[in-house]
Parts: sequence; structure tokens; C-alpha cells
Amino acid sequence: MTSANQTLFEKSQQLIPGGVNSPVRAFRSVGGTPIFFKKGLGSKLWDVDGKEYIDYINSWGPMIVGHAHPDVISAVQAVAANSLSFGAPTGLELEMAALINKLVPSMEQVRLVSSGTEATMSAIRVARGFTGRNKLVKFEGCYHGHSDALLVKAGSGLLTFGEPSSAGVPAEVAAHTLTLEYNNTQQLKELFAKAGDEIACVIIEPVVGNMNLVVPHTEFLQTLRELCTQHGAVLIFDEVMTGFRVHLGGAQALYGIKPDMTTLGKVIGGGLPVGAFGGRKDIMQCLAPLGAVYQAGTLSGNPVAVTAGLETLKLIQAPDFHAKLAAKTKKLIDGLVAAAKEAGVVFSAQSVGGMFGLYFSEQCPSSFAEVMQTNKENFNQFFHSMLDAGIYLGPSAFEAGFVSAAHTDDDIAFTLAAAKKAFLAIANR
Ligand SMILES: *Cc1c(COP(=O)(O)O)cnc(C)c1O
Repeated sequence: MTSANQTLFEKSQQLIPGGVNSPVRAFRSVGGTPIFFKKGLGSKLWDVDGKEYIDYINSWGPMIVGHAHPDVISAVQAVAANSLSFGAPTGLELEMAALINKLVPSMEQVRLVSSGTEATMSAIRVARGFTGRNKLVKFEGCYHGHSDALLVKAGSGLLTFGEPSSAGVPAEVAAHTLTLEYNNTQQLKELFAKAGDEIACVIIEPVVGNMNLVVPHTEFLQTLRELCTQHGAVLIFDEVMTGFRVHLGGAQALYGIKPDMTTLGKVIGGGLPVGAFGGRKDIMQCLAPLGAVYQAGTLSGNPVAVTAGLETLKLIQAPDFHAKLAAKTKKLIDGLVAAAKEAGVVFSAQSVGGMFGLYFSEQCPSSFAEVMQTNKENFNQFFHSMLDAGIYLGPSAFEAGFVSAAHTDDDIAFTLAAAKKAFLAIANR
């Protein structure tokens, strides 16, 4: 019998490229059919065939208080009744700006947008407008949304101009983007020595969640901060994923490093489309209508989306919210490492706050090159064993995982029991 899921996927492929509205959803990396969902509650999801899952994707981070939290849902319902959009300012936007400024004080001024992609794209434009420079520096394996200048990989040879990593991006656009290795302090110093005064900005995931989880060496981040200050380059922390997730104040609070600008997304919308960028007032004042840098959005600061975000941010300010989330995530990680060891499978794992990384390698990787060396075949087998058991992990060896406040001790015990079997199956393959 064909499942409802299979039918939906087959029909979707006729009308939607690859059957999905964002590529990683397609399961291309792990093989098989993507799951179509119809309901979520707390830590659980139900697919269109009625199968239940424990969710470790959490919509790639936003559902940090769990799915369909009653406070979030009722606030959204109430505000929706007053119209879905005005295209004019509301007090909710001020409330959000004030809250962002309180939780992430380096964001002296803020502008709201509708996605992480828009936030990073706009932050870079402001940084270029502010400095009058063109060059943009990013790091291999970091993802900052799908705007042209950011879909760039390192060119041949160290410190050369970038090459587009996607068709449809002009080489001229990519030429302004320089890509360095994450956690490589030496390379960073070399670039700044050579071209520091031409660099408009450096954008970085202060904890990377888009090449699986990679944590920064503190000295790498500190050197980056010093070099940007010395050369007048704008340091942008892309905290679209880490913001409100690794710490209430984001990775910048966790590592004690103050960027010039920050981008937010994911958690800040609580599951609805919200992004934000902000930072030093002197930089943000370059934006229209005050300054010469243009940026706009019909639905920016949308009242319903902002309300979902505000309610979520209220909940995560509960005492010890992040300490509890981090402890729960650590418990999951420790259990997985123990289960792999018992089965004799080469495996490592780590967590930062409510984010985690699983690697089929001896040690946790610290760069894109090292992530690429992890055992993908083992990951894919593990992924499918877990999925069969009702555990929904990111469908790629190159994605981080997410725990929410709604995950219970029982969820973790259930997950670890399934993992034990999955590791044994790998050992016996
Ligand atoms: C998800 C993500 C983005 C892109 O956000 P979208 O809302 O998908 O456009 C940008 N940067 C980082 C670090 C992300 O994790």
C-alpha cells in the first residue's frame, strides 16, 4: 500500500522543484522520502500517516519552547484578529527592538526583516555603505543565507578571490567575497596583513551550526575581533542560529566578544518569519531614511510574526531556562557517546546550549575539511535507523541538531534506547 506521505511527495515533485521549498528537506543527502508533517505538540511531531516522532530539528532551531506552545498560540490568535498586516509601524516592533537591545546589548539599534537571509544581506550592505569598502570575508562551512555574495567558496589558492558556489551568481559578485578556513588564526592574520584596509566586513557564525556543529577556538574569535578593530572592518556575528539558543545573550555573551553588528532569525520569530539585524548606532544610522543605504520590506515587523517571537522570547527568559536546556542537551550527547562506545562504533558528539553535533569520527571536527572526513555512510545508516524508531534528526551529516524546553527525560531515554540499537546495527554491518 502506498503511504499518504509517498503520494504527497510524488505529487509535490510534479509542481515544486524536488518536491520541497528548501533543499535540505529533500533527504538527498541521506536518501529516502522526506516526511510530510501535519501536527506538532511539545517535543513531538506526527506525519501525514499518523506516525509519531521526537523532533530534534525544531524547524532548524525556532521551536525552542516546543511546538504549539499554548502561550505562543494564544497570543498569535489574539493579535491576528486585529488584522494580519498594516505596512505601517506598530508598538510591537518597538517592544521587540527594546527586548533585543536588552538581551543583546551590542545591538544598539535594530531593524526587523522577514528571514535570516535578508538580515545578513542587509547587514553586509550597511557595513559596505558605512566603510565605503567592498570586500567581504566569510569562512568555509558557514552559511549565511542564500544571497548572491554569500554563495561563494574559496577560490584556488590561499587568499584569492572567491568563486560562486551556485550557478546563477556572477563571478564579479563572488570576486568581492574572500573565504577563509574556520578556526585558522594564521590565515586570518595573513589576510589582514595583506588586505585589511580593503575589508568592509567579516561575517561569521560564532558557533557554526551549518556544517554540523563546529565550536570556535576562543583565541580565533579574539584575534578576529582585534584585527577588525585595528583595520576598521565591521565584525558581523551571524547569530541567526545561535541567538537565544546557545545562551540568552547569544554566542557573543557566551564567549564575551562584542561584534559591531549582529544578525538574528530562527528563535526570534518563534516559528514565524522574523529576522533582525542591528549593532552600533553609528553604523545603523547609515540606513534609509536617515542615511544612504537602502533597505526595506513590505511585511517587515509583521505584527503576527513579531508576536510569536515576543512570546517565545518571554518564555526563554524564565530563570535557568538556558542552563536547563544545556543540561538536557548534554545528557542526550553523553548518552549517545556512551552507547556508541559500548557498541564499538567510532563516534563523537558535543553540545553548546541547546544545539548539538553528532560525528562519526574519533574527535569532534573543528573545520569544514574535518567535517568532510567524518563517516557519512555510518551517519546515513544511523539516521534511517533512528527515523524508523520515531526519532527525527537532521537529514544530513552536515546539520546541527536542536533540543527544546519541551523535551522530557522520557524523550531522551527513548532516544538513547533507539540509538543503542542503531549503533549495534552499524557495528554488525
Ligand atoms: C538559517 C540561517 C540563515 C538563513 O536564514 P533563513 O531564515 O533561512 O533565510 C543565515 N545564517 C545562519 C547562521 C543560519 O543558520
